[in-house]
Amino acid sequence: MTYKNVTVAGSGVLGYQIAFQAAYHGFNVIVYDISDEVLEQAKSKFNWMCKAFRKDLRATQEQLDTTFDNLSYTSDLAEAVKDADLMIEAIPEIPEIKVEFYEKLANLAPEKTVFATNTSTLLPSQFAESTGRPAQFLALHFANKIWMHNVAEIMGHPRTDPKVFDEVVAFATNIGMVPMPLYKEQPGYIMNSLLAPFIDAGLQLLAKEVADPHTIDKTWMIVTGAPVGPFGILDTIGINTAYNITKMSAERTQSPVRFKAVKYLKEQLIDQNKLGAATGEGFYSYPNPAYMNPDFLK
Ligand code: NAD
Repeated sequence: MTYKNVTVAGSGVLGYQIAFQAAYHGFNVIVYDISDEVLEQAKSKFNWMCKAFRKDLRATQEQLDTTFDNLSYTSDLAEAVKDADLMIEAIPEIPEIKVEFYEKLANLAPEKTVFATNTSTLLPSQFAESTGRPAQFLALHFANKIWMHNVAEIMGHPRTDPKVFDEVVAFATNIGMVPMPLYKEQPGYIMNSLLAPFIDAGLQLLAKEVADPHTIDKTWMIVTGAPVGPFGILDTIGINTAYNITKMSAERTQSPVRFKAVKYLKEQLIDQNKLGAATGEGFYSYPNPAYMNPDFLK
């Protein structure tokens, strides 16, 4: 089946980007959220998206007008999914909220509707039963700033119908993504399975006082030719997120080095309001971080 009607549930950081991206590529998109007030906020974010699409993708006014024509909004879930070919869920990363949502949706959506979750850290098999249609359920995972970082990781669970999997891969291509099909379930997908240990290794070098952040980044950048090292990446992710992830991993592993890294992030950065690129300072100062200066690698 070729999809035409798409429902995006949740209009937060990722949801509104997914909705806009699909509408830009010609799909009929209904944005669903828990209240009309939240949906109003989403609409104002779409105006911001227009600026980004103009600047980054050279989108024309005509393309943007059509995008808005393709978008509609409702806080009534039955209405939102009544003719959906695909429902993409981007609601909070809290298992109980997702389960409750899928149980409700299972009774409201027509038989044809395929459900996809954008979860970052959970696995589709955790929710397959509550969807009432495990064969038509899988993960379709986007990265923040999806129009630029246009990777879509597609990950089924053991009972996902391969035909549905292929349809979702095709859908991802049709909305301008580069689809990355995963053969099996993997916490963190491909991207975070690579990134998390990399960042962790950088922080451990820092916590052990082996070298300073800029030296660690320079080493990585010169040797691999990468445009940024682990600490430059951390500034983009945001220091609060890095702190939360490292704290969880320190508690899980009871690793003294990771606890030291947590202390460093808290005392040297968070307590001094150095929260990364978004606040103008983290391991580097913005808008022109030192690692972007060609002399940095000399
Ligand atoms: P967010 O908190 O910004 O947005 C969540 C939205 O869901 C809000 O608009 C909220 O009103 C709405 N919501 C809450 N309960 C709901 C319900 N029962 N039904 C419908 N909508 C409901 O969250 P986010 O950062 O956009 O993350 C959403 C999902 O996307 C999560 O699963 C997250 O793991 C995943 N994700 C996030 C990122 C990221 O960078 N933020 C990247 C990839 C994937």
